[in-house]
Amino acid sequence: MDNDPGCNCEAGEMMIFPCAGACNVGQLANDLAKDLSNKSMGKMACIAAVGAGGVMAINAAKKTKVLLVLDGCPVGCAKKIMEKNGLETTVQVLMTDIGMKKTDVLSYSEEEYSKARKMTLDKLQTLPR
Ligand code: SF4
Repeated sequence: MDNDPGCNCEAGEMMIFPCAGACNVGQLANDLAKDLSNKSMGKMACIAAVGAGGVMAINAAKKTKVLLVLDGCPVGCAKKIMEKNGLETTVQVLMTDIGMKKTDVLSYSEEEYSKARKMTLDKLQTLPR
């Protein structure tokens, strides 16, 4: 019997792994990943699946050109999970780099969202094509 039904993580040009932390910056990272994925800029993927050693997610990431990690704060959980599973992050973006203070409130302002989105797109622009 197959006890590992896997997930929907698929290889592509870019996979996006938000830390999805339970705080303002973690939720901002998660919503930003959703937005970029919904606009077909990449494929949002499950950092939890990678952390759990999910073979489908890890193998998909290994075949993917750009691994974008959106971490809420400098603790960098998503990037650390990637490292522990043998995956090299191509670009890491920290939401706190826009000057946000991490709080346990699960929301953020439109201005903070716009700044984080711009910072992320600017970083992606610097990648070699
Ligand atoms: S990177 Fe920061 S915000 Fe994200 S899960 Fe870790 S501690 Fe929480």
